[in-house]
Amino acid sequence: MRKQIVAGNWKMNKNIQESVQLADEIAKKVKDLPLKNTRVIIAPTFVNLSEVVNATKDSVVEVAAQNMHQAKNGAFTGEISAEMLTSLGLEVVILGHSERREYFGETDALLAEKVNTALENNLEVIFCFGEVLEDRKSGNHFAVVESQIKNGLFHLQANKWGSIVLAYEPVWAIGTGETASPEQAQEMHAFIRKIVADKYNAQVAADVSILYGGSVKPSNAKEIFSKEDVDGGLIGGAALNADDFMALVKSF
Ligand code: PEP
Repeated sequence: MRKQIVAGNWKMNKNIQESVQLADEIAKKVKDLPLKNTRVIIAPTFVNLSEVVNATKDSVVEVAAQNMHQAKNGAFTGEISAEMLTSLGLEVVILGHSERREYFGETDALLAEKVNTALENNLEVIFCFGEVLEDRKSGNHFAVVESQIKNGLFHLQANKWGSIVLAYEPVWAIGTGETASPEQAQEMHAFIRKIVADKYNAQVAADVSILYGGSVKPSNAKEIFSKEDVDGGLIGGAALNADDFMALVKSF
């Protein structure tokens, strides 16, 4: 059965003390919850990963990286390898966030390489994709999403899909306060599950968690998460406050 997931992407926010404090607060609050089928993941910036792993070591809270380089190692000044992440005890990495695509020029081809490197290193991938506003307005959003998934992931064998989580994040809804309606999210998630079923099989499609991301907050999470094909959220702004983040976890 697929899992429900609430994953917080802290982006370039929180220094070391703030990161440990937030991780600590979340770990304490999660302890009191009867989490049966729900995973709670937090993704601090690289330099704070080690301390956050330490702060959550006795907790079910999982720690993810926000990115990694595609090469095994070598002369890539300023970059971080998959092995560096796993050596910290990490098991999850976020790849393909729209900010990486837009500001750092990450292409579908590069992301396919990163996905391969992550899987070779036994990292689970939260793979992000989503259309920009013009695509939505022109009715091109399904084609854009299909091509991002196809180019980034459809080279994988079916047996690798146990290590893939999909995150549909319409770019027009990220950090803007504008959220896709629960119906828009469900419509896209059902489409995504169908293309995965068509490419692989019904079981792979039924088992993959598909997260929604884009201005999810305590006031709208319950309605979005209640949709049949929405298995949780990738959260930006609301993940930076323990109470807000926990309200999202409790929305299931
Ligand atoms: C994100 O960046 O992945 C995101 C969903 O951000 P926000 O929740 O702030 O829109």
